[in-house]
Amino acid sequence: MTEQNLLKINNLYVEYHSNKGILGGIVTIHAVNGVSLDIHKGEIIAIAGESGCGKSTLAKALIQLEPIKSGEIYFEGENILNFNKKQLKEFRKKCQMVFQNPYASLNPKMKIIDILKEPLEINTDFSAEKIYDIVKEKIKLVGLDENCLNLYPHEFSGGQRQRIAIARALVLEPEFILADEPVSALDVSIQAQVINLIKDLNKKLGLTFILITHDISVIKYLADRVAIMYLGEIVESGKTEDIFSTPLHPYTKALLNSAPQLNKTDKKILLNGDLPSPADLPKGCKFHTRCSYVMEKCKNCIPQERGASHKVKCFLYE
Ligand code: SF4
Repeated sequence: MTEQNLLKINNLYVEYHSNKGILGGIVTIHAVNGVSLDIHKGEIIAIAGESGCGKSTLAKALIQLEPIKSGEIYFEGENILNFNKKQLKEFRKKCQMVFQNPYASLNPKMKIIDILKEPLEINTDFSAEKIYDIVKEKIKLVGLDENCLNLYPHEFSGGQRQRIAIARALVLEPEFILADEPVSALDVSIQAQVINLIKDLNKKLGLTFILITHDISVIKYLADRVAIMYLGEIVESGKTEDIFSTPLHPYTKALLNSAPQLNKTDKKILLNGDLPSPADLPKGCKFHTRCSYVMEKCKNCIPQERGASHKVKCFLYE
């Protein structure tokens, strides 16, 4: 079966400028550096990497919440970077976000019914009756009873609040959901319930999820495909089973080694040192300052992406 692309990202760059340099000059933060990635309709794709690798910036850039320097993002064949305000508003209805912390993402002063009605009241001209029907349908879809609609967020557990946040993301019937570390703020005992809910919604609705996470076990259980990011680049991508059974990039191997129970890779591959600053990117392969396999050419030359469905950027495979 050939996969249909929902999103196609071509050579995307995101940069910030800050005037907090040591000598008071302008500092450029290279947050996303030449990312190209296809996102298939109906899949769960994980964008993974250490904190600061650019994964959340990439996700926000997909819905134009970040300053894009250059590149293209195609959605249903059109480059969203050329959209006017009206087109962008329509596009944003089709993509919704679920945030890491359900304690902060739900307005504590609003009843659940009002939280769920709000996106429909702002974005549609549906009747009050139709809006209420949609709200009831979505709250049931995430496994909660409609009686909870008249309660406030503080009356729910963290897991229930994240279900409500997911219900709110569903009311506009989006094409895809960006879920940024959706279980990392929850107790371990609750995480599995929310993970299973995401999996169920993906299967039942054919809904695409873009999962931003550093959690290797969540990726292994949930994702169909994985893109591994390092300093704003995707260094390896492929089907989850291929990435876990045959990781290629030394950084991917080190990341997998950081999850002891899942570790089936070479024990010698460990991460050395800290992530360099995105304001001062290393020359050549950006991983060369921490790589156990570094060669002379890695310090000056940039490896090209190789492979078809399982892709890697490393001179060991050229
Ligand atoms: Fe390591 Fe060189 Fe491969 Fe970069 S290109 S990951 S430095 S071996």
